[in-house]
Formats: sequence, C-alpha cells, structure tokens
Amino acid sequence: MPASKKRFYIESYGCAMNFSDTEVVASILMEKGFDATDNAEEADLVFINTCSIREKAEQTVRNRLNVFRHIKSKNNGLLVGVLGCMAERLKEKLLQEEQLVDMVVGPDAYRSLPALIEETKTGQKAVNVLLSREETYADISPVRLNSNGVNAFVSIMRGCNNMCSFCVVPFTRGRERSRDANSIINECRQLFEQGFREVTLLGQNVDSYQFIESEQFNSEAGEAGHMAVSFAMLLEQIAQIDPLLRIRFSTSHPKDITDDVLYVMAKYDNICNYIHLPVQSGSNRILQLMNRTYSREWYMSKVNRIREILPDCGLSTDMICGFCSETEEDHQQSLSLMKWARYDLAYMYFYSERPGTLAARRFKDDVPEEVKKRRLQEMINVHRQQSLESMQRDVGKTFRVLIEGISKKNDQELYGRNDQNKVIIFQKNNHKKSDYVYVKVNSCTAATLFGEVVNG
Ligand code: SAM
Ligand code: SF4
Repeated sequence: MPASKKRFYIESYGCAMNFSDTEVVASILMEKGFDATDNAEEADLVFINTCSIREKAEQTVRNRLNVFRHIKSKNNGLLVGVLGCMAERLKEKLLQEEQLVDMVVGPDAYRSLPALIEETKTGQKAVNVLLSREETYADISPVRLNSNGVNAFVSIMRGCNNMCSFCVVPFTRGRERSRDANSIINECRQLFEQGFREVTLLGQNVDSYQFIESEQFNSEAGEAGHMAVSFAMLLEQIAQIDPLLRIRFSTSHPKDITDDVLYVMAKYDNICNYIHLPVQSGSNRILQLMNRTYSREWYMSKVNRIREILPDCGLSTDMICGFCSETEEDHQQSLSLMKWARYDLAYMYFYSERPGTLAARRFKDDVPEEVKKRRLQEMINVHRQQSLESMQRDVGKTFRVLIEGISKKNDQELYGRNDQNKVIIFQKNNHKKSDYVYVKVNSCTAATLFGEVVNG
C-alpha cells in the first residue's frame, strides 16, 4: 500500500505543550502523505504522546497501551509509537517493558518520524530519543487537529533550564531554547487570517524567552549588530497583529516575570489579564529544597506588583503538597499563602517522586501517602471556597467575552471566556463563534459564570 494511503491516529496526554507537539507531529506525517484518523481501530499507525510528570500520568499511558494491545491483536500490521516525555525518560527500556511498542521517539526527534516508520517496515523496532540544543520546529506549520477554529496554541520555546528538584521536565525535554521570533509572529498572523481569535503562547518558562535576531545593520553605529527579542517585546509584536487577536501565555516563573511584561499587558487590551504563576509551596524551607530560587516573600511581592499594575488580573497557581520532609507547619504555610493570594484557579498535586530528579537522588520521599492525600484535600477545600468567592465577586460586572462555541448543556446557549479565563454562558440569539460580546454576569457556580449580552 502506498504511504499516501496510510492513516495515523494520535492521542495526547499531559500539558498544553504536548498537545501543541502533537500538531507538529501531525504536520510532519501529513507532509509525507499520511492521513489523520480519529478512530484507532482503522489506523495503520497509532501514536501516544506521553507525559511523565507524575507516576499517575505514566500509569494512564500504560493503561492506554493495553487498549492498543487489544487493537493490535486484531490488526497485525498496526504500528504503535510512544512519543514525548515517557519515551525520553524510559528510552529502549520501554520496548522491553511494552512488547507491542514499535517506535520510541523523544520530543526533539519528531522530524525523524517518517524515517523511523520506514525502519519498522523491516520488522525492526525504532528508537530516537536524542535531545537537541537547537530544535524548535520553527519552520513547521502545526496541523490544528480537533480545533474549534477559535483558540490555538503556539509554542514559543522548548525545554527548561530550571532545575526544580521535583521535576522531570529538564530531563525529558532538554535545555531551554527560544523559537525564532519571526516564525512565531508569522504563525500568529496566519492563525488570525484563518479566523482564529486567540493564541496561547507556550513555554515552560515564557519569561525567560530570548531570541537573538541575526545580524542587522545599525546605521547609526555604522556596524552590524545583534538584537535580542525579550518576552515583553515578543508579546508587544504579537499584540500589534490585530486588536481582535487575543493573547494568552503560560507558564510564568515567579523569579523571571518582569515589570516590562506587566506594562505591555497593561498597554494592550488584547493581551489577556491573566497570569499563571505557580508557587508550589508557601514554606521557605520547602521552596529551598524544591530549588525554586525565590522565597514566599519574593513571591508575595510579585503578586502585589501584578495587582498594582494590572488591578483586574486573574491569577492561578500550581501547588505541590507532601514534598520530602514537609511538616504540618510547612503545609499550613502553603494553605495560608493560598488564602492570601486569593487564586482564581489552582492546580494541586501531591508529590510524586520521579526517578533521576534531584529530589529523588537527594531527599527521602518520607511523607506517607495518606498524609499527602489529606493535605491535598485540605488544599482543595481552601481553593474551592476561594474560587467560589472569586466567581461571586464577578456577579454584576460586565466582561468582554470571546465566543468559543455552543454550550454543551443547552444548544440555545453559547459559551466563551473573559480576559481572566473564566467561562461565561449566555443566550445565543444572533451571536456566533469567534465574535466578541459584552456580557453582564447575573449568577455563578464555582466553575461557571452566567450572564446576558449587553451590547445588542
Ligand atoms: N514549568 C511550569 C512551572 O514551573 O510552573 C510547569 C511545569 S509542570 C508540567 C506542571 C506542574 O506539575 C508543576 O508546576 C508542578 O506543580 C507539577 N509537578 C511537577 N513535578 C511534579 C512531581 N514530581 N510531583 C507532583 N507534581 C509535580
Ligand atoms: Fe519543571 Fe521547574 Fe522547569 Fe517548571 S520551571 S518545567 S517545574 S523544572
């Protein structure tokens, strides 16, 4: 069968970066004549783009592989590929552990996928887990699989140089590198021209984005020079594409977010006032063991600065409880910081030891599982109360909302998001996807705002 008739099926797990990578993989495969299918049973190639961040994420992937094993038993020619962080972490070992797997491909090796597929045709297993210091897939136009045509992810950098002691990402995604600013701006412009109205710029640590433009002639100095594009400069250039293109970004590291970024956010209405600023813990002792390189006080001063420059800015965080040696007192400090920060959204996890990380090598994972679970529940309780209060504060206010689609529960209603990333539901009337409307909020639950359009 010619390659052009082969169909691939791909599933993604984990962070937004992985979903964005899947769009790059789809582009590479479609360029070589493969077709995408959303039915694994009719595919010739099945890929799973994996996450290693916690043990549970890896277990989810193993469970999915069991389902693929069943499909492969009915389709002998089916090729199964494991992509992403778990591929990078386990390398060849994955082939031994999971006999059904034919290909293991790390996050920097997707360009070699067509060649690896060829290799497996001879019955061999294929592995490429080389990490790169340069690869950003800058020239590849991602294929927007399962897109709503409104929001798109745009990857601006890869890898991470921060060695948070709990985190496997620096090992699975390699060194930090920033993508060519021009290719990012072009991709955003094309998305806008195709009808997309919101881009989310992705990186593990977007505030350390820095792209050195190639030599330019500096007429004043009469010599060639380099120009460094910072994250604030990149944001500004994307904001200028069109006022109707909204911009979000994730993730910001508290040690790196600058006033310049906050001022650019304040200057442009189309940069959403929303910052994901993970703190991880409220205890200085634990922050130090985590190697986060900031203190509770530093973090609080950053939050104060954000609220000073952007008074209506939405704020979210990631929290880890039960990290090595965490005491009840440390845990109480995390709870008190959460109460102080009044997060609109929090992603909360209990610590999961990852082999090879600094914490796994240096510290004992000594908080018993039932204690971790109880502390996590206490965090969730604090957050539940806070997110409800955050929603209640919005009742009576009017927001500019980008419409994303028809509400799942009622086809006469639409849903969209405000600047602060909160979902708002309202009557459809003549409004449609991709439009901006002003919605006055009348009521809420802990997860959703309900309102009415007030601009006709
Ligand atoms: N780069 C981002 C940052 O520094 O905030 C996020 C990276 S990670 C994909 C997302 C979140 O997973 C982290 O912020 C952290 O809360 C959580 N996480 C990472 N490693 C973990 C571990 N070993 N156990 C539990 N949660 C973990
Ligand atoms: Fe992991 Fe820290 Fe890098 Fe985030 S900043 S990806 S938590 S090492």
